[in-house]
Amino acid sequence: MKTRWELNYEHLDFLSDCNDVRSGNDLARFAMRARHLSTYGVSVKAAVCREFAAPLVIEDVELANPGPGEVQISLRASAVCHSDITYADGGWGGQIPAVYGHEAAGIVTEVGAGVTRVVAGAPVVVTLVRSCGTCANCARQLSVSCEASFALDAQTPLRDAHGNALLQGMRTGAFAEAVVVHESQIVGLPPGVPFDSAALLACGVITGFGAVTRTAHMPRGSTVAVVGCGGVGLNAVQAASLEGAEQVIAIDTSAAKGDAAISFGATHAINAMTTEPVEAVRDLTCGRGVDFVFVTVGAKSAFDQSYAMLAKGGAVVLVGMPANGALTSFDPGELANNSQRLLGSKMGAANIAVDIQRLVSLYQQGKIKLDELISGKFALADINEAMDGVRRGEALRNVIVFP
Ligand SMILES: [Zn+2]
Ligand SMILES: [Zn+2]
Repeated sequence: MKTRWELNYEHLDFLSDCNDVRSGNDLARFAMRARHLSTYGVSVKAAVCREFAAPLVIEDVELANPGPGEVQISLRASAVCHSDITYADGGWGGQIPAVYGHEAAGIVTEVGAGVTRVVAGAPVVVTLVRSCGTCANCARQLSVSCEASFALDAQTPLRDAHGNALLQGMRTGAFAEAVVVHESQIVGLPPGVPFDSAALLACGVITGFGAVTRTAHMPRGSTVAVVGCGGVGLNAVQAASLEGAEQVIAIDTSAAKGDAAISFGATHAINAMTTEPVEAVRDLTCGRGVDFVFVTVGAKSAFDQSYAMLAKGGAVVLVGMPANGALTSFDPGELANNSQRLLGSKMGAANIAVDIQRLVSLYQQGKIKLDELISGKFALADINEAMDGVRRGEALRNVIVFP
């Protein structure tokens, strides 16, 4: 007979396993087996990771034709996210050689058997969220943690010039001129939305927005601190502002990112290099602390400090994902006594079909900023330069654009 505690812990293990997208674990589920030779359709240029913490290598690779339920997209833009860097630097392990990139937009060029959502020629956003729509997690609006497996999970659609399998990083492989993904991973775009701005919707924007609207269910009038003002953090800032937060305190180690946060709706910006952030947040809230702290970076120090900024009844929302092995600690008695919560937020718990359409509409109405998130545009050949800019913390989002 198992005790209640044992049963609870089993349940937690199950959840953490299912939620692990970042992942060595997720990647391990992708077999390094290429599809049969006859299924390969086109040769495309891609940036391949052959060695962790080394520059990506531009190669001609072969991309499979779309199978049943799959779609081939010619990419027009692919943004560099911190997750791509963490993978390429070996922070999350996983198999190589691999093609990363998971924040993209382009035009559908071919659809596989049974695809009903799009036709060739449609402009789309391409995401890493692959979902069945019917499993237990999809049924409760948690498609980012879909439990189903797909043909693309077992067989990568990418192989190199020698016929060796290349991992389709983060289920997308968007540092390439074209991708093959499951139809659930794409969302149609109305005409006229620029591809480079639309690409950002695939990860950074839905993650920052969803953390506020879906994970936190932030009530109007809340006080908020956002730790980290990069591509995800600025979207948490603009979501909190749009949803009626009374105070949005942006914290970053870069003064330029603090300035950007103010332009995205923050009421205050704290430079953590020159000001102690916990004290500053307490000062700005008359000693109460804030109702929500959104940690959007992967730095351990940011997680460690977040609890001390929290008001009674408040919640820390964990959005950024540190490298494997990073741990933080908190006082559970204090958390219980203060009715505080810790909330994990993977991809902003997004429902991509609903959320991306809403965000496009807000962008078209001028209510949210997307163009301003782009720091630089690069050709695929210059991808290592684009990634170095992100590593140095200079860029909000650097975007690879395809001619
Ligand atoms: Zn991302
Ligand atoms: Zn599912």
